[in-house]
Amino acid sequence: EQRDLHSLPKRRSSDLDYLRISVTDRCNLKCVYCMPACGIVNKPHEELLSFEEIARIVKVGVSLGIDKIRLTGGEPLVRKNLVDLVRILADIEGLKDISMTTNGILLKNYVWQLKDAGLKRLNISMDTLHEERYRDITRLGELKEVKDGIILALEAGFTPLKINTVLLAGINDDEIIDFLRLTQEFPIHVRFLEFMPIKDNEFWKEGNFISCREVMDICCKFGHIEPVDTYGNGPARNFQIKNALGTFGFIAPMSEKFCSSCNRLRLTSDGFLKGCLHSNLKINLRDPLRQGIGEKGLIQLIELAATTKPREHLLDKNSIEASEYLMCQIGG
Ligand code: SAM
Ligand code: SF4
Repeated sequence: EQRDLHSLPKRRSSDLDYLRISVTDRCNLKCVYCMPACGIVNKPHEELLSFEEIARIVKVGVSLGIDKIRLTGGEPLVRKNLVDLVRILADIEGLKDISMTTNGILLKNYVWQLKDAGLKRLNISMDTLHEERYRDITRLGELKEVKDGIILALEAGFTPLKINTVLLAGINDDEIIDFLRLTQEFPIHVRFLEFMPIKDNEFWKEGNFISCREVMDICCKFGHIEPVDTYGNGPARNFQIKNALGTFGFIAPMSEKFCSSCNRLRLTSDGFLKGCLHSNLKINLRDPLRQGIGEKGLIQLIELAATTKPREHLLDKNSIEASEYLMCQIGG
């Protein structure tokens, strides 16, 4: 069915209250659906925003209505002194929520420091509960590190803890029920993510895709499930198994576009503001910042990113060339 783009409301900056910040394009893993096997050429350090530059953008963003931010990457915890950035951002008046998406490998070293610095919520990415499979999917990782991080994060009071699980047909879709069992035992919120074809994804093939609807059918067979209120600000639809401590949900950017309710802007690690993960439209904030732009100018640039936010992504299962950035460069 053809969507009428013009029937979707145009965005104003005040409609957008959520900023995702990629703090680095570097990562300690090379997940098959995110990075090429040969890795990526990292941007030189001087092209990345400094903590001061990020804080300046966030401050102006907050004056325009942003009140939630998420730190992501690449892997945010490989950025040196990341805890300091959390502390700087937590001090910004008007910012209500700071969260982070991490692969969890380094988490156990930082979890308490992050809590003390003011991090409120954590999403940990874990696509499988099997060690060997984890090594295959991430090409580099040890699952035990992630599990240790999860246990410590729960102990530190990051509850409910969100787990991001990208489901891949024929690779980890036989673990859906195991993830549901996890939600029965722990205050964990599992979010099943649909695999998105991002730029030059050598791993993408139609056969790897499994839609959230198909996953839901499998979940329904497991037992009595009921809808629960949405947590946080995301596009997830959420459910719970009767008497479970945790919940589970779906993020279906491919099969059920949620663009019309998308409230986020994205800041790339090299300082471009993007309205959409899948659009090449970007506003350069880094160079104007380094050339001494004033607050008014910065406001105008952020407003420009908001008002030019695409009304919906044009990604579909047959197109893999929609983005000039890889997922790890924009920040998923
Ligand atoms: N390195 C951190 C991590 O893995 O959690 C943060 C960045 S990663 C790009 C953010 C999220 O995007 C992860 O949950 C990851 O599984 C997801 N992701 C990456 N590539 C994806 C793809 N092609 N389709 C769907 N999700 C993807
Ligand atoms: Fe790294 Fe996260 Fe991409 Fe995996 S999904 S390669 S952990 S950025």
